[in-house]
Amino acid sequence: MLIKILGSAAGGGFPQWNCACANCSGLRAGTLRGRPRTQTQIAFSPENGIWFLVGASPDLRTQILATPQLAPPPDVPGHSPIAGVFLPCADADAVMGLLHLREFQTFFVFATPTVQRILRNENRIFRILDRADPPVQWQSLMNNRRVGCHLGPDPGDPPTFFYGSMPLGRHYPDYASEELRRSAPSDDACVGFVMEQENRKLFVAPTLSGQNSEWTKTVASAQAVLIDGTFWSDDELAATERTKKTAREMGHLPLSGPEGLLAQYPKDAHGRKILIHVNNTNPILNEDSEEHHAVVEAGFEIAYDGLTIEL
Ligand SMILES: [Zn+2]
Repeated sequence: MLIKILGSAAGGGFPQWNCACANCSGLRAGTLRGRPRTQTQIAFSPENGIWFLVGASPDLRTQILATPQLAPPPDVPGHSPIAGVFLPCADADAVMGLLHLREFQTFFVFATPTVQRILRNENRIFRILDRADPPVQWQSLMNNRRVGCHLGPDPGDPPTFFYGSMPLGRHYPDYASEELRRSAPSDDACVGFVMEQENRKLFVAPTLSGQNSEWTKTVASAQAVLIDGTFWSDDELAATERTKKTAREMGHLPLSGPEGLLAQYPKDAHGRKILIHVNNTNPILNEDSEEHHAVVEAGFEIAYDGLTIEL
């Protein structure tokens, strides 16, 4: 399986248009050693010429254009190599990209029943996906099930890869209706994905609340892990004066601290551990910072746009 990181920043990207934090200002001024990043977007290819997306970022159009493997082959009209999209949650920065895929193209969308309710019933703009012929095919994710995906012409063949989702805790986005946020099952709000092929496992959790510890078991058995690197500390956003919310209140386990992701990450995990969905305020983006060196010394990689992983 081939995995490509098309975008690696949290919502807003790096730098963010309205942000003058030390990172964003430093990057604009050219005084900070670090890379600009678009909003988190992952793509994986279980078979030559067939790609799936994880999340649908607001930057998706430019991310697709920057990735030659995702271009439609000139000899097959109307055929995109993008076969489907796995949605981890209904956050704006994980679903806005669906609107970039509206050009009369059919594909699969994998999402929990409640995320589908938000996108298909509560927000009519996503109905634009229905005008493809045949329309976009919505598939319901049922947590903790391992599902085989057949890409070959013969349904009798073994599945090309397996996918599964697991609840990671967390709330629904504020833009979902009050009624839904009150009544919908919390396990549907945010999921992590396990993609499996030939006994090699990829675990994807760009948003990890840390409210349950199921993830630690999956991480220990995966060959590659793409995991929430949004915030370094719980109170990081307060300094921007745009919000008083903490990292945890926003549904992200911060990296640092005694209960943080670095401390909780299982010591017996031997796969590649890659931080993704990094917020522009996170000091690890500054390659000269102590925090950057701390995560590298702890054996983590920091995802960047264009990173390719072979599993
Ligand atoms: Zn910033």
